Amino acid sequence: MAIPEEVFQKYQRAGKITREVREEMRITVREGMPIIDICEKAESLIRKKGGKPAFPCNVSVNEIAAHYTSPPQDKRIIPENSIVKIDIGVHVDGYIADTAVTVCFNPEYDDLVNTAKEALKKAVEILRPGLSMSRFGSTIQKTIKTRGFKPVSNLTGHLIGRYVIHAGKSLPNVFHISTSRVKEGEIYGVEPFVTVAKAAGRVENGEEAHIFRYLKHKSLKDPYAKRLLNHIRKNFQTLPFTERWLQGCVPPSRYKTAFSELLSSKTLMSYPVFIEASGKPVAQAEHTILVVKDGCMVLT
Ligand code: MN
Ligand code: MN
Repeated sequence: MAIPEEVFQKYQRAGKITREVREEMRITVREGMPIIDICEKAESLIRKKGGKPAFPCNVSVNEIAAHYTSPPQDKRIIPENSIVKIDIGVHVDGYIADTAVTVCFNPEYDDLVNTAKEALKKAVEILRPGLSMSRFGSTIQKTIKTRGFKPVSNLTGHLIGRYVIHAGKSLPNVFHISTSRVKEGEIYGVEPFVTVAKAAGRVENGEEAHIFRYLKHKSLKDPYAKRLLNHIRKNFQTLPFTERWLQGCVPPSRYKTAFSELLSSKTLMSYPVFIEASGKPVAQAEHTILVVKDGCMVLT
């Protein structure tokens, strides 16, 4: 079924903003640049263009495949000879567009980055109503293997819902037995992740987590924890956020205890960084697409 025109227009607005911000960030990122400056620039551009960040700007370097965003006062910089995934999400009234680009400062990894782009291009070519997830995964895997690289097997594309980034269905980047199929009117974030042939080809959770989201209601003792939670629910609903966006909500001397209670009570969940298990570099390319009658439409 096709989506309502009004909803389609909101997706298109979100898509246009993510595309513009992605292209701006692609030419902004430099070796030696503080990662926090990249995150804040992307997020402020999104707001300036009339959207809201659907999640914190992810800046994931080398073997970090995804889910790194700067914590407050981050001191990290973009290392020399690195490859950098910039992943950006925008929502307009809860309708999300999600896109990513890999910026490469090491010519040794140009082919890796191009392979992620090629795999995304292939995905856009084959996506249409009725396509099985098994077929999708095997086609992407073959596209990547033919070029001498390896897909990251446990990172997938995902169905997108209103205010929900991962709405249940996954688009695998490797062959996977599944009876699930793509349907008209669905929106997906399509994102092949590629690493080198000799890598493990999967990610593991790292120790750090700087991205969080609201999970469920719990009774809280600390009044400042309650205040923080009200701010989170009002501003981000069920979407991921960063502690950078909570600064100034409660007095600085009360912040740490309040935020800790939200985590220990499991009111919030955290997203650990994903690291390639053998420490090898990872490239990513991502578009958000709408499945239409005879194929798909790229929104980003
Ligand atoms: Mn993304
Ligand atoms: Mn995504």
